[in-house]
Amino acid sequence: MPTRMDNGERCTPAKCETCHGPMDSPAFCDNCHSLYPADGLNHFELLGFLPSFDIDAAALRQRYLQVSRGVHPDHHGRGTDSSVSLRLSAQLNEAHRILSDPVLRAEYLLELVGGTAASSDKSVLDGVLATTLMLREETAEAKAAADTAALDACRARARQHYDTTLAQIAALARQLPGDEGLRRRLRATLNSIKYYQKLLSEL
Ligand SMILES: [Zn+2]
Repeated sequence: MPTRMDNGERCTPAKCETCHGPMDSPAFCDNCHSLYPADGLNHFELLGFLPSFDIDAAALRQRYLQVSRGVHPDHHGRGTDSSVSLRLSAQLNEAHRILSDPVLRAEYLLELVGGTAASSDKSVLDGVLATTLMLREETAEAKAAADTAALDACRARARQHYDTTLAQIAALARQLPGDEGLRRRLRATLNSIKYYQKLLSEL
């Protein structure tokens, strides 16, 4: 495994073990096309970024495409390289899926710093259950009455709740690792936004 160093902005591997050139991702050397198994690396490390909620979406996409092209199974046809390449491609797809979505990214960061998973802490913020229940009832009434204006209003309110909750998630995720209270609050906020996500998907 190549060694890595911190350049302050993203996590960059120092150099390739084969050609000793610099690498953008610890998985693939652009210079000599060597592949390195990424087992044990988190999603940020795999794509050469420092773990942080604030990640440049364009830079993330560009890095993902660049490394994906490099590790693509078409370029690593035989033997060990081919299985490493298949595994890396799957890991890159998963890393990009998680990191490009702000809710999944915040949840991933929370778990990286030892926060609880949704499966073991289902708490939500005050008022979320009552609000979603009320919006769901109003939506059902609007649908029954074929009242498109009322339905649009329900959708707008659900969207507003979603946006507000996402802003809270961002504010908390930027303070990670934080203390136990902050991590629990982030867990509850992440659990809460899922209610609004589900409501919006039904609308
Ligand atoms: Zn190399």
